[in-house]
Amino acid sequence: MGEVENVDVLIVGGGVIGCGAARELSKYELNILVVEKSSDISEGTTKCNNGMIHSGYDTKPNSLKAIYGVKGNAMYTQWAEELGFHFNRTGSFVCGFNQDDMDIIQGLYENGIKNKVPGIEVISGERAREIEPNINDGVIGALWTPSAGYVEPYEVTLALAENAIENGAKIWLNTEVFDVLQENGKVTGVVTNKGIIKAKVIINSAGLYADEIAKMINDEFYTIHPRRGTLGILDKENKGKLHTFVGKAPSKYTKGGGPQETPEGTLLIGPSAKEVADKEDLGVDRDDLDFILDKAMELTKNISPDTLITFFSGNRAATFEEDFIIEPSKKVKGFIHVAGIQSPGLASAPAISEAVMNLTLAELGDGVKEKATYNPKHTFNKAFRDCTNEEREKLIAQNPAYGKIVCRCETVTEAEIVNAINGIVPATTMDAVKRRTRAGMGRCQSGFCGSKVLDLLSKELNIPPTEVTLKGKNSEILTEPTRNFKRGEM
Ligand SMILES: Cc1cc2nc3c(=O)[nH]c(=O)nc-3n(C[C@H](O)[C@H](O)[C@H](O)COP(=O)(O)OP(=O)(O)OC[C@H]3O[C@@H](n4cnc5c(N)ncnc54)[C@H](O)[C@@H]3O)c2cc1C
Repeated sequence: MGEVENVDVLIVGGGVIGCGAARELSKYELNILVVEKSSDISEGTTKCNNGMIHSGYDTKPNSLKAIYGVKGNAMYTQWAEELGFHFNRTGSFVCGFNQDDMDIIQGLYENGIKNKVPGIEVISGERAREIEPNINDGVIGALWTPSAGYVEPYEVTLALAENAIENGAKIWLNTEVFDVLQENGKVTGVVTNKGIIKAKVIINSAGLYADEIAKMINDEFYTIHPRRGTLGILDKENKGKLHTFVGKAPSKYTKGGGPQETPEGTLLIGPSAKEVADKEDLGVDRDDLDFILDKAMELTKNISPDTLITFFSGNRAATFEEDFIIEPSKKVKGFIHVAGIQSPGLASAPAISEAVMNLTLAELGDGVKEKATYNPKHTFNKAFRDCTNEEREKLIAQNPAYGKIVCRCETVTEAEIVNAINGIVPATTMDAVKRRTRAGMGRCQSGFCGSKVLDLLSKELNIPPTEVTLKGKNSEILTEPTRNFKRGEM
């Protein structure tokens, strides 16, 4: 297979970590390429998490999770300002119903103090309900960390990816790394389905598959074993009932889970935690769903489980050590491990990206120059649903497609969907359009808008409707043109 590209830095994986590293490195005069095996960025664990920018009260002091978590949390203010994504720093609770819970909460408080969590305090149930009125009346006290915040994880990742591209980096989707090449103890490139890509430094941010990429250079000092978390979404009729995250004391493997309001005003519940054998096992078991629903109802009031509109799972990339692995390979030069990035990986992303940038610069040696034209600013178009009537009229006058509402649940227009399909990182699947515009994320879960989005993808990508997919290869939605189905043949 021939050489198709030659870069300074090759990043494996287009999750929040890979795209974050690309954006930080785009501050330098470097040729950077992110390769992502899926049809979109964020298609791994980054698409299915709570979006919580944890405050850092429960991570083991001095662990990488604790250091990068607290630092990353603080860095989100600047990231959000520069990159233009939604970020609400509204705080989080760990609630106690009895003295045993309060003992755990006291332990978490002391842990949080060691981790230097700003503003952390133990407060009474009454005070908790003053801040968050729908906390259950049975809660007698709570750990309160005002520094916790919330993002839409795919919006953060898209902003990072687009800003990296605006600063000269490249992202190749549908590009899978099969092998890593090396000569005289130094990496020289990777073999992909598109051909050989030469590189001076390889960053392994392949999430659940980081151990398999490490195996390609025989540097197998960790393994990733998936731990599944199930999440549920409640209807927007609950908007405004909570403003923070209301959790319970954590167990060994989960931060405890609970309900929270996302920046878009959706109530998210969960996650659960279950070891699974298969990295692709994203099933939802009844017991996990019951667990997250029961917990959400126990912690709050005035919220009904009947308002659940959908549920899904994501897999945490856990290692036996239960800490992040962020270091250059000791076996092969030019290879950087960024593995075991389970929670609080999203919260830590700014600090991890900065660390990966520094490790990469160290691997490249002297002579890497800062880019004079680097622009940290990224802007998203304001969503039509957030516009004033005057702004809406102006948009419709410029482009009548703003006047056509495709997704009625989330008020998404045809123009916004067409823009997403033709965006800087183009949305070429139904799920990619959904992540960029929210078309299909509302109460009907694309029941009404799905066929229209499919039609727009078909037209804009100039492909037959039967080639439009949910999330890339082997997820086609139509098997043949619907008019071919005759009565009695289905
Ligand atoms: C249920 C759940 C809830 C969570 N909640 C939170 C939270 O609230 N806050 C928080 O901070 N963290 C949370 N996390 C953790 C967080 O989601 C992760 O830490 C983060 O998304 C990891 O990002 P990543 O880029 O390392 O991995 P990923 O997003 O998985 O990205 C890795 C990418 O590599 C690609 N890839 C793999 N192999 C190859 C290959 N051979 N070639 C090319 N590409 C490849 C994959 O397709 C994937 O897109 C949660 C996780 C789960 C599962």
